[in-house]
Amino acid sequence: MQLDHYVNTIGRHLRGRFGERVHKLPLHANFTCPNRDGTLGRGGCTFCNVRSFNRDEAAPLAHQLDEGRTKMHRARRYLAYFQAYTSTYAEVATLQRLYEEALAGADIVGLCVGTRPDCVPDAVLDLLAGYRARGYEVWLELGLQSAFDDTLARINRGHGFAAYADAVARAHARGVPVCTHLIVGLPSETPEHSLDTLDRVLELGVAGLKLHPLMIVKGSRLAAAWRRGEVAPPDAGHYADVATEMIRRTPAPVVYHRVSATANAPTLLAPPWCAGRFEGIHAIARRLAATGGQGSLTTRPLPPTPASSNPT
Ligand code: SF4
Repeated sequence: MQLDHYVNTIGRHLRGRFGERVHKLPLHANFTCPNRDGTLGRGGCTFCNVRSFNRDEAAPLAHQLDEGRTKMHRARRYLAYFQAYTSTYAEVATLQRLYEEALAGADIVGLCVGTRPDCVPDAVLDLLAGYRARGYEVWLELGLQSAFDDTLARINRGHGFAAYADAVARAHARGVPVCTHLIVGLPSETPEHSLDTLDRVLELGVAGLKLHPLMIVKGSRLAAAWRRGEVAPPDAGHYADVATEMIRRTPAPVVYHRVSATANAPTLLAPPWCAGRFEGIHAIARRLAATGGQGSLTTRPLPPTPASSNPT
């Protein structure tokens, strides 16, 4: 079942802009994170063990890009996706060197930069706005996870919703599209929390969203709580129900970069369905086919946001 019949996926969005398949190539540029290096804290977010999705020592960017091209051989054009840790957490000159090293490939048509809301100073936003002005596809990917400050404190994010609102306003002032990451099933949260979080994100305006279920991974602080039976990640059906409702409430122009997530064994401890790539996606697509796709429950227009593409 094709998800992009019902959802404005990033794949569909990029095919619309470039007329062909464009894939994201994940990169690790040896950044760290202020929630791990002691600036804000040392433990990191309770759900996080970045070893679960990235190697320890990063290879040169050119090598990583070549490796990605080999794996994603069904595309001829790509977005360089600075994914690991906090990919704006360095001097602007360093960021500029790294981003431009990635953009140097003739087949690289844009940049996605994953970071925290409290790590995007104006100079970084100006740098990203400059790439967009040159015709690149640009996305600032902000990890928010929840709009509730008590949840954010409980998972040790080290920032509140106000930091997110501030980053979004400054990004929008420069025309930089934001993709917001949200987690469904965080400790003590109900489906209503997820829906309220979505509402608050949409109220501020957003060009892209990424959803994923709470996953328990080895080495994270939540792993111990899960072993003690204090935390239970959502099962596939529950997650699909909540994600489907969120997608239906999302205005059609918003681009979904992801609607579920996977992790590899043995790093993944729970839920087991996240070991497979398609179970969550297919469950959501089936529900959307039966109930109506993205935007079918939207009651209000999206506030003005930077368009998610910049026609050249
Ligand atoms: S989730 Fe992101 S912000 Fe949180 S500890 Fe991990 S790398 Fe840092």
